[in-house]
Formats: sequence, C-alpha cells, structure tokens
Amino acid sequence: MTDNEWTKILGWPGYRVYRSEINETSKRLRLWVRRKRGNRLLVCSGCGKRVRKIVDTYEREVRDLPWSQYVATVVIELHRVRCPDCGIKAEKVEQLPSKAPFSKRFEEAVGLACESAAVRRVARQFGLAASTVRAIDVRYLKRWAAGRRKPALRQMGVDEIYLGKSQKFLTVVSNLATGEPLWFGRERKKETLDGFLEQHLSEFQRSAIRAACVDMWEPFRQSIEQWAPNCQIVYDKFHVMQHAGAAVDEVRRAEFFRKGGAAREVVKGKRWLLLSRWVHLNTQKKRQLNQLFALNRRILKAYLLKESLDRLWSYTYEGAMLRYLQSWIDQLRWQRLKPLEKLAQMLLDHLEGILNYCRTKVPMGVVEAVNGNIKTLLRRGRGYRDLNYLLLKAQRLAATKTQFLVFQKAA
Ligand SMILES: [Zn+2]
Repeated sequence: MTDNEWTKILGWPGYRVYRSEINETSKRLRLWVRRKRGNRLLVCSGCGKRVRKIVDTYEREVRDLPWSQYVATVVIELHRVRCPDCGIKAEKVEQLPSKAPFSKRFEEAVGLACESAAVRRVARQFGLAASTVRAIDVRYLKRWAAGRRKPALRQMGVDEIYLGKSQKFLTVVSNLATGEPLWFGRERKKETLDGFLEQHLSEFQRSAIRAACVDMWEPFRQSIEQWAPNCQIVYDKFHVMQHAGAAVDEVRRAEFFRKGGAAREVVKGKRWLLLSRWVHLNTQKKRQLNQLFALNRRILKAYLLKESLDRLWSYTYEGAMLRYLQSWIDQLRWQRLKPLEKLAQMLLDHLEGILNYCRTKVPMGVVEAVNGNIKTLLRRGRGYRDLNYLLLKAQRLAATKTQFLVFQKAA
C-alpha cells in the first residue's frame, strides 16, 4: 500500500502518512504522520492564538481506532512553538485533546461505548485497564459538558439518595425542565444545599428560581428560604409517597414482631410488595399480598391508605385537595395505626407546601426519574467514588434521553 493510500484510509484531516509498519504476529499497525504541505497553520495550545515561530520538533505516539484486527497507533510529528503571550508551548492539534496517549476519536469511541456498557466490559472490548477507561470517559464527558449550552434554572428538584452505611446521603439538585441533575453534595444538611445555592449560582440566578420540589426535610426548607426568596416550596408526590411507604413498612414490621410462628412467615419479606402499587403487580404477586391481608387486617388497612393517598395529586384546586386530605386523615380514626398517624401529622405540618402543588405547576415524576437514573448508574458502575464522574454520567444520560425524545417527536 502506498503512503497516499494509508493517508486516505487513516483520514486525519491535514495530516499525511509517511511511514508504516505492520507486525503480523502481535497484530499491530504503526503509522507515522506529519502535516500535509498545505497545512501550516500553527496554534498555541495555551491561548488558542495563531503562532509562527517553531522552536523544535518532536514525536508523540497515540492509540487510534483499530484497523480490522489490528491495534493501530499513530506517531505524530509535533512542534513546540514560541507564543508571544504564553512563551514556549506545544502546538494545538485537533486529534490530541489531552496528554494521554489516545487520539480524540479513539477516546470518543471509548466514551460512547461507556454509555451503554459497564466500564469493565468496555475495558475488555478495547484491551485497556478499567482505570484507563474511566479516565477516558471522564475526559469525553468533560469535553461534551464544556461545549454545550446550559438551560436556565426556573424550577429545581432537591432529593437525597442513600449511598450506604459509610457514605450516607448524597444531596441531588436537578433542573425540572430538563430532568438533568445539576449538582451533587455530600450529606443532607442545610450547609449542603447552601453550598449549591450560595456558591454555584449568582444572586440573579437564585432569584430566578420559581419553585422547588423537595422532601419534607427542614434543613432543605431553611436553605431555600434563605437563598432563593422567590422560590415556592412544593412537597411533591414522590417524596410524600416515600414517607407513606416507610409508614406501611413500619406497620408490617410491628405486626411481624407481634405475631408468631406461621403467620410470621407470611409477613416476612413482603416489604417490596407492600411498597408497590396494586396496579403494577402481576396476578401471582397480588395473590401473595391477598394472603398477607387475609391474615392481617392492619397491614391491609395501611396498604389501602397508602394507595388512596396517591390520589391527592389528582386534584388541581387546593380546596378539593384539602378536602380529600381531610377525609383521608379521618379514615385513620380508630385504626390504631401509629406510623400513619405520624405521617398525617407530618402532612398537616407541611400543608402549605403540599397545597402549593395546586398553585405552582411543576412537572410530576421528574425528581423520581432523576433519582432512578442515578441509582441505575450506581448499580451498574460501583466505581463512582468520584462524584464529579457520577454527575457527568447522569447528565449525559439525561441529555441523550431528551435528545431521543425530541427526535421521536420530530419523526
Ligand atoms: Zn499562547
């Protein structure tokens, strides 16, 4: 094959192949490239300005996309330049985005693969170490994040995710309009959310926030009231129903300890069934739940109350919503369901924020979706000790899903 043909197939704009080497036993292909004669425009990697003075010439070897069964590396002739502003610097080359030994398009292929497969699998596919794949993915995501427009924040979601015993809670702030997470913070204190509102937003941006979907958690309310004066707090369905689920589970556990023998076996391990909505269960699961209910009327009652609380958000007039809530609380009388009575008190204590759902229109289910995406990533990845990586990953996931939806609508 002639150098001309190598150049054509390699397809690096502005560069030509002047030497090639094939190793058939190790299945390796090496190509040496330098600038084409017409490509003389040198750019400083420090400031991005055009420079003329070349100080010296050197070579760098990077891995590029594979050629059939061959692992391909490209040896590039590079120049160090003298920039009037930055001094002596390396020239900027499109295919060399970082100091790592990979071409840009190779990193893009790895990054793209990481969108649909776990790091370990991508590492095996490309014959790289898992840590290398992770580093490439981070750079790929950072380049993507740097090059896109960020939509304004008008309605935000604040949620907490439980990471486990050692790391405890992660506070997640998201943009409800785009369904993308904006920021992660350790723990779930007032100072945590302060950290976002105070340091990541300007005063103008803070005053532009109109609504926030949050959990009934005092520190978050305090932080929002201090920093975002125009923001209405909405206690959304997702968060309230989480508390309802926890209350039902508390009833289940109490009954488990109250009963003995065979009855215990029926109550045991039904936690997830009780948290699920009836309409989402298949016949077998419904039968299991009915078995549990036949044995224990108190669990049945708690479950039905949780199911009916769900309807609270079907009202759009606050008077009707309030009436429904009142009748829901009335049903608790004489039931001796302490955890649900506690929940009722909590709802009354946060009544304004619950009724705000009727006053401020916020999209339903976004906080839940963001939460779900992050949990999926955590389940799939495990290696997210770097929170910034997890955030970039979740943002990309949200953005590509949105793009997909937009595409579907257009079609
Ligand atoms: Zn410069």
